[in-house]
Amino acid sequence: MNPEKVAGPRVLLRHLRALMAGEGAPQARLDSVTTIIATNMAADVCSLYLRRAGDVLELFSTHGLKPESVHRTRLRVGEGLIGDIVAQAKTLALSDAQAHPQFAYRPETGEESFHSLLGVPLQRGGRVIGALSVQNRNKRDYTAEEAEALQTVAMVLCELVLASHMVADDEIAEIDGNATLPLRFEGLPLADGVGQGQVFVHRAPLHVENLVSDDPDREIARLDEAVSRFLARIHDLIAESASRIGDAEREILDTYRMFAEDLGWRRRMTEAVLDGLTAEGAVRRVQEENRRRLVSSPYFRDRIADFDDLSNQLLWQLVGAGRPPPTALPENAVLIARSLGPAELLEYDHSRLRAIVLGEGSPTSHMVLIARSLNIPVVGRVAGSLARLRPGDPVVVDGWRGLVHVRPDENVYDDLVDAVEDQAKRRVGYEAMRTLPARSADGALFDLQLNVGLLHELPLLDATGAGGIGLLRTELLFLRHPSFPSTEDQEAAYRQVFDAAAGRPVVFRTFDIGGDKILPNLDRPLEHEENPAMGWRSLRVGLDRPSVLRNQLRALIAAAAGQPLTVMFPMAAEVAEFDQARRVLDIELGRQRQRGQVLPKELQVGVMIEVPSLAWQIEKVAAKADFVSVGTNDLLQYFFASDRTNPRLANRYDPLSPSFLRLLSRIREICSDAGVPVGVCGDMAAKPLEALCLAGLGFRTLSLPAPALGAVKKALRSLDCAAIEAYLQSRIIAADGSLRDEVKHFAQDHGIFH
Ligand code: PEP
Ligand code: MG
Repeated sequence: MNPEKVAGPRVLLRHLRALMAGEGAPQARLDSVTTIIATNMAADVCSLYLRRAGDVLELFSTHGLKPESVHRTRLRVGEGLIGDIVAQAKTLALSDAQAHPQFAYRPETGEESFHSLLGVPLQRGGRVIGALSVQNRNKRDYTAEEAEALQTVAMVLCELVLASHMVADDEIAEIDGNATLPLRFEGLPLADGVGQGQVFVHRAPLHVENLVSDDPDREIARLDEAVSRFLARIHDLIAESASRIGDAEREILDTYRMFAEDLGWRRRMTEAVLDGLTAEGAVRRVQEENRRRLVSSPYFRDRIADFDDLSNQLLWQLVGAGRPPPTALPENAVLIARSLGPAELLEYDHSRLRAIVLGEGSPTSHMVLIARSLNIPVVGRVAGSLARLRPGDPVVVDGWRGLVHVRPDENVYDDLVDAVEDQAKRRVGYEAMRTLPARSADGALFDLQLNVGLLHELPLLDATGAGGIGLLRTELLFLRHPSFPSTEDQEAAYRQVFDAAAGRPVVFRTFDIGGDKILPNLDRPLEHEENPAMGWRSLRVGLDRPSVLRNQLRALIAAAAGQPLTVMFPMAAEVAEFDQARRVLDIELGRQRQRGQVLPKELQVGVMIEVPSLAWQIEKVAAKADFVSVGTNDLLQYFFASDRTNPRLANRYDPLSPSFLRLLSRIREICSDAGVPVGVCGDMAAKPLEALCLAGLGFRTLSLPAPALGAVKKALRSLDCAAIEAYLQSRIIAADGSLRDEVKHFAQDHGIFH
């Protein structure tokens, strides 16, 4: 191959396009493709391998190897040099391929005569569908330009192969959009239940059809214009929405801006246009290049999605739409997302959502808590498999076992029928227990209350027979609000809650904003923070922006009007913070009194134990607060220094570890000794096994999401409370690690779980 002869792939791309669009038998056309590439690149061999079902790579066409090897030569993904190119999605340039330890000799190809090899993956998005290689007889080094030229050709060829159906759909069944084979992925079960529907991709990428162009001037002008429009939009968004956006959005916008202003990125796209691609093709080409580079770095791997997003945004500019259309969910949608925030979830019409599958996700993130309260099954941590899900694919999500079945066969349904029937039976059983007290077998009485964050959950109070609302996450009521809620907006919403509760107690928790919950239009934007979970959030915001806290308390007092009011402050780290918040409440009460407004009939003021430091002032807390509620989600994350939203840490630390149980035991004992009611409102109370342990530690008030109430009540009703108390007392001191298995056995031995 003579490097001078390779003057960019422009001519080659034109030929390719004409060939693929033309008539003729598919095999003959593919063979012409490999011949044209070999000739144009002055190579002795050009071979095209495509991936078939079962992760096998098959030689589909060759110019230069023995023709009889076509459709005969096969390699597993990862096997040989071609297998490695596909497995790693990498470009390989070797002057002496046969000397490479991974070289896999296939005698039927006659490739012993060829020494040098340049191979690139055929990939679309994150999916590698095959490999394209050229080989030369002599030992020679391929230049970076040659490698780039072959990558560009491979990108176009990949699209053409998929779009032109030159290869029968079932031959590339596992990877093509028309795939038909069933697939099964295993992930992390995050929210129970089974959901069935069709794949709907959150922020789906735009499909680009026209990749090759003969008019570089026009394409460069289009590209420049789109980038300028895109940049202007990002700048506007940042400027306009400075007061409305939170950390996560700001970080994304800043990342976009940084990349969009990066001259290297623009230069590479311009070069791709000069190589014969359209503006869209150039965006895609550089996107693939970025992926290849970033995927090898553990730090940058997490940024691939940002680059993908950026490229997709730019593509929307190029097709003139500016941005993706508003999200319209099909009926029975199974939402597929790399990650999803609570506000993003609430943007969707959840009556159409049957399940959610996440690339990331962790059990106590607020998005997952909301999904559970909406009864939407969620499976997380299937990042490596997301790219294999195509819009419209039928899919069944098994949130109990963390399984995702794509294009399921009958066996899947058979297998799930039992599980679904079991669930239905259990529901009927819970329904029958609705009016029965949550009393243990040995007579301990529990108060089971609900965690609520959305107005539409209010009817669940009646449906479950819960004693009241033990945690109203007030911030969630306003997550979708277009602006920060005014006092009037708040009062109206709180009135609805009082009405629905119809005299049952409601614990209104003041705004717990920050972390993964952002409310729009706070009087100042929330700044970027390295550690938002440990940052300026929750009560800290309320105390530093007293108007936020005051307005909320004012709205609560007004909504209560003559009824008992229960207020709870989250995230206090010191008693002094509770005192300060309480003073704000007293000032507001005084103000309302002065105005002659109707005051709440009674007032209870409680505090959450979510920050470990407060657990070491619990005696003081007990002397001042009317009640205490333990937020185990946050308490666990601070106790173990383990970010509750970090998917890599999901389930790493167990609330049933002796250290955490001892902390809970201490809190409960000191509160009870002081005569202060103490309960648990974190997610720990929502799981039967955990709830049994809480009972064993002496907690009698548990607040949990409605869908979890039946199972917890059932477990508690068969519990011998004294027995588990005695058992835990010694084990939380003696055990080295999690008590989960032990407690499971205890429950089985005592006939609680069968
Ligand atoms: C908790 O932290 O346990 C809790 C109940 O509050 P949230 O989950 O809303 O942070
Ligand atoms: Mg919390």
